[in-house]
Amino acid sequence: MDKRMKVLVCGGGISGLAFAIAAGQDPNISVEIYEGAPEFLPIGAGIGVWMRVWELLTKLGLADDLRAKTASPTTPDPIDALIFRKSDQPEGLEFYKLVTNGPFITFHRHDFQQTMIEHLPANCKMFYSKRLSTYVNLPDGRVYASFEDGTKVTCDLLVGADGIKSVVRESLLRQRADKHAAAGNYEAAYRSLVSNRPTWSGTMCYRALIPMEKVRADLAKGNLSLEECHIQHIGKNANLIVYPVANGTMINFAAFYHQPDKVGTVFQGPWVAHVPPEELHEAYGNYESSVQAWLKFIDAPSRWAIHTIEPLETYVADGVALVGDSAHAMVPHQGSGAGQAIEDGVFLATLLSNPAVTTRDIPKVLAVYDAIRRPFAVDVCRRSHLNGSFYTLNHPDYKHRFGSSFSGSRDQMQFLKEYGEVLKRSWEWAWTTSFNDSMEAGMVILKKMMTSSELSYGATAVL
Ligand SMILES: Cc1cc2nc3c(=O)[nH]c(=O)nc-3n(C[C@H](O)[C@H](O)[C@H](O)COP(=O)(O)OP(=O)(O)OC[C@H]3O[C@@H](n4cnc5c(N)ncnc54)[C@H](O)[C@@H]3O)c2cc1C
Repeated sequence: MDKRMKVLVCGGGISGLAFAIAAGQDPNISVEIYEGAPEFLPIGAGIGVWMRVWELLTKLGLADDLRAKTASPTTPDPIDALIFRKSDQPEGLEFYKLVTNGPFITFHRHDFQQTMIEHLPANCKMFYSKRLSTYVNLPDGRVYASFEDGTKVTCDLLVGADGIKSVVRESLLRQRADKHAAAGNYEAAYRSLVSNRPTWSGTMCYRALIPMEKVRADLAKGNLSLEECHIQHIGKNANLIVYPVANGTMINFAAFYHQPDKVGTVFQGPWVAHVPPEELHEAYGNYESSVQAWLKFIDAPSRWAIHTIEPLETYVADGVALVGDSAHAMVPHQGSGAGQAIEDGVFLATLLSNPAVTTRDIPKVLAVYDAIRRPFAVDVCRRSHLNGSFYTLNHPDYKHRFGSSFSGSRDQMQFLKEYGEVLKRSWEWAWTTSFNDSMEAGMVILKKMMTSSELSYGATAVL
């Protein structure tokens, strides 16, 4: 069997690029990325990664170039990463300092993505304006992909890195539903089809980038504060964060507005739209003056209706793997969607690069990928959702505690401190655990599977 393999990556976003950079380091793997967009424009907002992901980017050789594009320190020393304020009242209350191992390292998204593109190894080719329409499996085990412009590509493995509206996921789940139906399992077939649909989280995110020179005077006067770290303003149904990006030349502004009664409903209108600032002001009407001071810089925010993917029954099928948002688009309240996308890509690429793996072993690689990455990513989705419920004071165990006004009494401050601790516990995996542990486990399991005729690992089997 051939050690050389050809991998088609559908989508040149963060997950597709992470896979390509890692896989392309193996001269036996040729990677072709097919990106639907004609180019990546220098637009977009901020993005940040925690130490767990920074370690991975360092291993991939990106650290020096990325360091040149951030004002954040990049060492794993303990740091005040976030300050939490209860801000839905005239006088806000600072109640918790989140100390983490290493900071949330923040970038302009375009800088981050461009750096990844610059690090693509020579055996990775990237093609733009190539939008996948569907794929089929060939009898010899390879995959045949068709693009909207008529291009056809045959590959040993198709990596679906095409984001929340993934065409690869749609085809994979449809084929899976057909198999369930053929076996008479109509309920499972229905579940497969339904799980393809992104769900509206009930949350809007209003995003903007503010040039630093616009706010410098207010920062100097003390009307605004960055306090050398990021501030998370929380309150009933709305939370806001600002942090520097683009090497400190811009402020990333992200204000969330959550409507609990809209969770799971169909969002009417485009998912991303520029809206008048009044819509944002309305959501934050009763917030403290430091929040109002930020709002006055926002002229035409872009409003994102945040959608998610419910946990899927699998991330893999014959010759196909889903990575990143196509597998697990989540609410962004742990700053970890892109981090998980990078982990998916590197995990899958590292398994494929095992010197013993040939094209015949791809089903085993996919089974290990699914067995380890899927439960991990599903857990991160759950924790992100949990953080959102903490920020918007909607967590069922705590929301009754926010019924009365908060004057900052000793009891209230004690409660808020404990609240901060609970929040930290749901999040600390991001700066206290290492990707290496699950990677090593994956390698051990793959090795065992390679010496066995069994295809599946544990409860996970490739269809
Ligand atoms: C408000 C907000 C803030 C966030 N902040 C953070 C953060 O601070 N840290 C973090 O880790 N994560 C963050 N995230 C999440 C993060 O943005 C995503 O998880 C990440 O971008 C997913 O990367 P991806 O490559 O899987 O998908 P995408 O970035 O969506 O890339 C998919 C690519 O596939 C292409 N494509 C789509 N369809 C096709 C097709 N049919 N054929 C070919 N190409 C196709 C698209 O053009 C695109 O380039 C945030 C998300 C939001 C909404």
